[in-house]
Amino acid sequence: MAAQPDRSSLRRGWVLYRRLLTYVIGNKAVMITGLLGFVIFAASGPAATQWLGWTLDSISSENYEQARILSPIICLAIAFGRGIGSFLGGYSMAYLAQHVMHRLRCELGKKLVGLPASFFDRQAGGRLVSKVTYDVQQIAGAASEAITVAFREGLTVIFYLAQLFLIDWQLTLTFLIISPLVGGIVSLASGYFRRYSSQMQDSMGEVTQIASETIKGHKVIRTFNAEKMVNDKLTSTSERNRHQNMKLELTRNTSTPIVQMIVAMGLAFLVWLAMSPEFFAGRSPGEFVIFLSAAGLLAKPIRQLTQINAVIQRGIAASASIFDLLDEPSEPNRGQHAVRRIDGSVEFKDVWFSYNESSFALKGVSVKVEPGQTVALVGKSGSGKSSLVNLIPRFYQHNRGSILLDGIEVDEYELSNLRGQISLVTQQVVLFDGTIAENIAYGNPHYSLDAIKDAAGAAHAMEFISKLESGLDAQVGDDASLLSGGQRQRLAIARALLKNAPVLILDEATSALDAESEKFIHLALQKLIKNRTTFIIAHRLSTVERADVIMVMEHGRVVESGTHTELLSRSGHYARMHEIQSSNQEK
Ligand code: ADP
Ligand code: MG
Repeated sequence: MAAQPDRSSLRRGWVLYRRLLTYVIGNKAVMITGLLGFVIFAASGPAATQWLGWTLDSISSENYEQARILSPIICLAIAFGRGIGSFLGGYSMAYLAQHVMHRLRCELGKKLVGLPASFFDRQAGGRLVSKVTYDVQQIAGAASEAITVAFREGLTVIFYLAQLFLIDWQLTLTFLIISPLVGGIVSLASGYFRRYSSQMQDSMGEVTQIASETIKGHKVIRTFNAEKMVNDKLTSTSERNRHQNMKLELTRNTSTPIVQMIVAMGLAFLVWLAMSPEFFAGRSPGEFVIFLSAAGLLAKPIRQLTQINAVIQRGIAASASIFDLLDEPSEPNRGQHAVRRIDGSVEFKDVWFSYNESSFALKGVSVKVEPGQTVALVGKSGSGKSSLVNLIPRFYQHNRGSILLDGIEVDEYELSNLRGQISLVTQQVVLFDGTIAENIAYGNPHYSLDAIKDAAGAAHAMEFISKLESGLDAQVGDDASLLSGGQRQRLAIARALLKNAPVLILDEATSALDAESEKFIHLALQKLIKNRTTFIIAHRLSTVERADVIMVMEHGRVVESGTHTELLSRSGHYARMHEIQSSNQEK
């Protein structure tokens, strides 16, 4: 086993637990009901031992006949009380746990849609998914199970101890000498529990990641014969998870019997003392029975109390992972400016931008685009074309210079207002679970069916939609694998047409198409480009020839700009690229 975790990690655990508790005790009425249930439940234990002693003593008393009626009634009453207490406690805790789970999932969901693009660049999707599913469940388990056991069993211990104290406090005190020993073992085990739990969460995240990659990439895996590689990866990750689980179980299953042994030794000592003649003097057999059974019954709740530790530590580890995510800074949205519809002029003034400290993706880019103009960006892959257009909807924050929309800094716009002015069509069309119509009207379910039909028609998407059995109501399926690349692209164009934003960004929207789709898509794009400011990134130069300005990018700089004819006559970068492409086509 590794060294015991230091004090600061214990303090952090406590801070996390307090924060977690604020979620649990949010609903005071339910919490109080639950606690009331636990008090009733815990009291039923000592009540039963008391009943036992009393019944025993009444056998040899003169009230024997009376007791014969009363004793069974009390027995039933105690059982009834215990049942009620158990229900109130159990149900209330389940209620709280489900609420905590729901609230955390909602908060995580809200967080996820508000995080900046750079966050997702750094994170593995699978780990994020498992935070929302696995980690949240661990927390709910910790919250309800820990509170249940802590209160129910904790109160049971306290009540039994009180009963013992009432009979003979000196004797009972000798029993309590074991408590520092028990406490020491429990806190030693806590550190290990927490460490293994957080390792387990990370490996669960990896398992989720690999599983989702296996599902998403099922074709790639098969074509590269990577089945074995994927399986091995999953096997080793799952094995690591199993191993960590076993370490946790080892800690749990070692610490519990040790605590049990210590408790048993304390009890044995207590019984030995209790069986002394001095103790017997002046006490009834009933009292003796109460004393011994209360002492004997202490063992089980004490064991349960030490066992919840593993659950609590698992919950703390899970809450560390979840609170870390909740504490991630959301996208900055300090802008106030909001307009219904901008005219569409876009200007970059000496814009510098880097994803990380090491190098700049854009180095002093300046460009001015009038409303309705089309700008084409060409250049080698990695030259900074996507980086440039991604700054307009503020997916990333530029370091220097200014980006103006209608003469106003993009930072000054309210974020959703800014993004409402921009349509983005990329090579990777993301379709969501739902019907085709819902996907075209994505994000705004208020469009009329006619409007959706018009957009689909203008995007030349109706050609294939009308061939589908349920037309616009056809389910897209998880990743729209039933649609071809060109068909998805046309849906994306229909989406953009319907949104009708004044600024349009086409980032290699036509790169992955077959010749047949390309014809339709060019027709659709002509309609889409009309009357809006358009940034078009394309590899095939034929797509960009008609642009008002063509900008050639290299290593984050604009090295050439002008119209098609201007650039050809300049015999520079563009002319060279043009030459290479046309000679390729002739072959
Ligand atoms: P293009 O679209 O012209 O192919 P990009 O704008 O995507 O080029 O990339 C410009 C540079 O920025 C490249 O060096 C690329 O490696 C880097 N880059 C792109 N996206 C990211 C990202 N999300 N995080 C870090 N670096 C990135
Ligand atoms: Mg790109």
